[in-house]
Amino acid sequence: MGLGQIKGHAPIRRLLARAVARDALPPCLVLTGPDGVGKRRVALALAEMLNCEALTAPEAGGPVAFPDACGVCGACRRIARGVHVDVIIIEPGETGSIRIDAVRAAVDQAAFRPFEGRRRVVIFDDADRLVPEAQNALLKTLEEPPSASVFLLVTSRPHLLLATVRSRCPELRFGGVPTDEIADILVTRHHVDPTAALAAAASADGSVARALETGSGDFIQARESAAVVLRTLAAEPNPKRRLEAGKELAGARRTSRSSAAAARETLIRRLRALGTLLRDLQVVAAGGDRACLANADLAAELTELLPSYDTDRALRGFASVERAVNALTRNASPKVVADWLALQI
Ligand SMILES: [Zn+2]
Repeated sequence: MGLGQIKGHAPIRRLLARAVARDALPPCLVLTGPDGVGKRRVALALAEMLNCEALTAPEAGGPVAFPDACGVCGACRRIARGVHVDVIIIEPGETGSIRIDAVRAAVDQAAFRPFEGRRRVVIFDDADRLVPEAQNALLKTLEEPPSASVFLLVTSRPHLLLATVRSRCPELRFGGVPTDEIADILVTRHHVDPTAALAAAASADGSVARALETGSGDFIQARESAAVVLRTLAAEPNPKRRLEAGKELAGARRTSRSSAAAARETLIRRLRALGTLLRDLQVVAAGGDRACLANADLAAELTELLPSYDTDRALRGFASVERAVNALTRNASPKVVADWLALQI
């Protein structure tokens, strides 16, 4: 896939394409930004652009105004499959870290001309997992980079890299991918139903990976549970009954196979769905454009809830859901969190 086909990050793609076209690409770059926004994909597209056997003419009006990778030649396909001899991808091993021997092997190889491509590209994915000795080994190479090699450090946690490494490598900061582009990716590349795609994209915080987690049938189920809870809590002042609704929210029916971790994930999925419903309620309550609703298919149902959820209540509810999700990701008990939330919304 060429840089031109990637969604989002247009300024970064333009910058990289221009640098390649002018033969001014730095020998080392840090690609940083939130998880799941496509940093590794951009690194691979760059590797394709550097080694494609049949560069295509720039697309008129496209974001990449320079010859781009074709995405279909032998080199492009081998790079996409991770088997191109000159494009080395180094990831954390079973220990969770990238050890010095992996770096040494790549660095030794990088000293020679590429075998078949034009440029050797070494991609460190989760580069923050490079152990310090490995970073130091890399540093020596970065000080005198071999002319035909490019090192790409992909990480969402650049602060964990040694300052000496960071000072050698310009940083490209990725932001989140816009909601409509995430929805488009889900529909066109992953065949998710358009309604579910939009709902999942809206709750994904700019992360394609997170949207994919939620863009499945699981998400639709989670949204149904969330909608039931919202209806129950709408006009229910009785704390005891509110807690029952909370129990229902947390109540992933445990089969013998389902673990505590699965229950936690189910609850997080339901809460994310609940968050999108509360955000939509704010839009509807404020008389906003219904085309902006993440759950546009539930517009009628949301309107029915309006008398119970004014902007303030929806806003407070949304903030509570965010807190609840944060607590769950930090290992709080799903039951405690669900109880607390049922009393807040
Ligand atoms: Zn190609």
